Amino acid sequence: MVAPKAGGGKKGETFRDDSRKVEVRISNIEAAKALSDAVRTSLGPRGMDKMVKQADGEVIITNDGATILDKVKVLHPAAKMLVELSKSQDVNAGDGTTSVVVICGSLLKKCLELLNKGVHPTIISDSMGKACRKAAEILQEMAAPINIQDREALIRAATTSLSSKVVSQHASLLAPMAVDTVLKVINPENPNRVDLRDISIIKKGGGTIDDSIMLDNGLLLNQKPCTSSGGPRRVENAKIGLIQFCISPPKTDLESTVVVNDYQQMDRILKEERNYILSIVKKIRKSGCNVLLIQKSILRDAVTDLSLHYLAKAKIFVVRDIERDQIEFISKTLNCLPVAHVDHMTPDKLGHAQLVEEMPVGGSRVTKFTGVDNVAPTSCCLLRGSNKLVLEEAERSLHDAQCVIRCLVQKPFMLAGGGAPEVEVSRKLGAWAKTLTGMESYCVKGFAEALEVIPYTLAENAGLNPMNIVTELRNHHANGDVNHGINVRKGSLTNMLEENVVQPLQVSLSAFTLATECVRMILKIDDVVPVR
Ligand code: ADP
Ligand code: MG
Repeated sequence: MVAPKAGGGKKGETFRDDSRKVEVRISNIEAAKALSDAVRTSLGPRGMDKMVKQADGEVIITNDGATILDKVKVLHPAAKMLVELSKSQDVNAGDGTTSVVVICGSLLKKCLELLNKGVHPTIISDSMGKACRKAAEILQEMAAPINIQDREALIRAATTSLSSKVVSQHASLLAPMAVDTVLKVINPENPNRVDLRDISIIKKGGGTIDDSIMLDNGLLLNQKPCTSSGGPRRVENAKIGLIQFCISPPKTDLESTVVVNDYQQMDRILKEERNYILSIVKKIRKSGCNVLLIQKSILRDAVTDLSLHYLAKAKIFVVRDIERDQIEFISKTLNCLPVAHVDHMTPDKLGHAQLVEEMPVGGSRVTKFTGVDNVAPTSCCLLRGSNKLVLEEAERSLHDAQCVIRCLVQKPFMLAGGGAPEVEVSRKLGAWAKTLTGMESYCVKGFAEALEVIPYTLAENAGLNPMNIVTELRNHHANGDVNHGINVRKGSLTNMLEENVVQPLQVSLSAFTLATECVRMILKIDDVVPVR
């Protein structure tokens, strides 16, 4: 505890005031540390997974720090900052969401030690900022540039990211899938911009992950074709229309009731309805369209049994219930334009594919488009899994791997994994701290020591002796083996580049910076003010 400041007019008051600040700070740090300890055991390939049980009884199994923290109900305001920290890392880099929280926890532990020794929080905060900038420089020096045309190198990075997941035994399938899907959506005019929304992932249960596929040049839709009225299940040389209007009788705006009391009237209504629908179907047919994708409508049914019947008679392949947010993706992939009114249905709006067919997957069906004219800057894959938990974790893991590739596309530098960068930065920062003076030197040294938490935890989770391993690792680095890390599978120290354990520079860089920023923010808080 920090000793109360001597002097001042009313000693008693000064004392109460200060002790509250210290208490708030310590309580904040303790809460954040507790959360960081909770995810620590899931770091690395030998880390454990968490089963998260939600209030509604739903269960998820995951190894992803951001997902775990996102689901945990956190009450303490400082602990919430850690949840946000993990989310920021997810947005910024996509991977390293456990690492960032573990590093932050370790830095906070160091801060607590420094505070207890009487160092002022502002000095700690400033020194941490300085140390972090230096750490970033060291990381940058260590990183090896890569060529993003080098598919094998990218696959290695994706494999490392997948190696710590529940689905790691399927990395040989998922890693190339992650690489190919991302490489396909790179915009040649603006190569640094990769939008993962251009990748559609469809999940279907009832198979194993090995059955997952990536579609080379085409589109997969989660929706199945409507075949109940006898419509076609397969169309060659397809002209695809994407419509946003309804093929059903219009409804009145107001809730009104029409009372019909003789058969002739009723016949007339039905006839009107038939003619109305028939005229729409004719216009669609006239444009040359033979595959129709219909957007879901919230106002009325987009299609009725009657319209489906006429569409089937016109030999039009129909997929209904297209979601609003799928429209952009479909339009980009199939090179067609969405049509909002039947009068705008013209041949130039239609997309073209060599084959559109229904594909049975597990217990259900999906729609598959192949041989699309232009090579679209989008990609599709179909993930399979034996149950929902595996399937969802597979999707999250694939997303992490895709983020790793996106990081490499944006910043083509790679680091060794397995704790190598952390130990190296820690060693160099330690040496640098000796050249500084006063409290700053002390704080930078603390920062350097805190980084060793990553190799320490990797060893601990792998059932190795962390003390021995980290000491030995430090020796290797002092002898110039900068890429040595913990080979958790063999339980020894090896050159991680030779083991093909590599990770993007941006992931580590972002983890260091974000963790430091969060620590500095927590340190600077000296009061919690509840407001109603
Ligand atoms: P995060 O959510 O932070 O990405 P992970 O559970 O994926 O957490 O663990 C990442 C850490 O595991 C990184 O420090 C990485 O270097 C290390 N790692 C990944 N694969 C291996 C491996 N095969 N051997 C040793 N360390 C590995
Ligand atoms: Mg990871």
